[in-house]
Amino acid sequence: MFDNHNHSQYSCDIPQGEGSTIREICLSAIEKGLSGVAITDHYDIDGIYDGYFPPLDHEGIYRDITEAKAEFEGRLSVYHGIELGQATHMPAEAKEQLKKYPYDIVLGSVHAVRGITDFSYTDIRSLSVAEYKALWDLYITEMLDTIDWGDFDVLTHITYPKRYYLANGITDFPDIKSKGREYFEPILKAVIDKGLTLECNTSGLRQIMGECLPNADLFSFYYELGGRDITIGSDSHHCRDISANFKEAMEMLRNIGFKYVTRFEQRKKYFDTL
Ligand SMILES: [Zn+2]
Ligand SMILES: [Zn+2]
Repeated sequence: MFDNHNHSQYSCDIPQGEGSTIREICLSAIEKGLSGVAITDHYDIDGIYDGYFPPLDHEGIYRDITEAKAEFEGRLSVYHGIELGQATHMPAEAKEQLKKYPYDIVLGSVHAVRGITDFSYTDIRSLSVAEYKALWDLYITEMLDTIDWGDFDVLTHITYPKRYYLANGITDFPDIKSKGREYFEPILKAVIDKGLTLECNTSGLRQIMGECLPNADLFSFYYELGGRDITIGSDSHHCRDISANFKEAMEMLRNIGFKYVTRFEQRKKYFDTL
């Protein structure tokens, strides 16, 4: 099993002195019995260019991953990835970055919509009902734009803002149990049509949502629409969380009918039994 979504101490959202080195991540992955791990540090392109996040040390990451690949050869596959946030806000810069390194896997993420920094830093509680519903609509639009842009492999953690809505006590936003299918149908269809992979992000099981992103209902809908291409990622920000909650996630996915998980090497797909 591979964990396809992990952050090292280099990630721009991890304060200095916290987080784990790439070597520590690899050692933890081996201890947990994984066959591979992808290092996918945050590159929230607009936040970095705006000075909201510190620049990402791409060279340091590349050096440490290269060393880890050599040290753990034969014991663990170490993949060089990147979590590209808001690529559509600066598509030329995103394209340029992807040319600079021989990435194994590129995660496509929407953490923010135009005009706000990140859902995790937005004071959602201060918004009116109309405003936070409009924000949800913008999130959907931004994801469709991201899929349309398309220079990535895996669409990550869809329903991401839900975590922050719930943390702010807001529960009456469109969700899979009400209008979720209407909202997410174009996104799931576009993922399938573009040949992209949908991520099962297990971080929600460690947080207020208590479910994967997306949840079982939405994965069932993806399956009904013909979607079969999935990855699993813990979205760990510390090596202790590598492959956290994979057991529950795998069981949920198998129960729906998924038979394999995708991994990426040099941005080519390989399929492993789930
Ligand atoms: Zn993310
Ligand atoms: Zn992440």
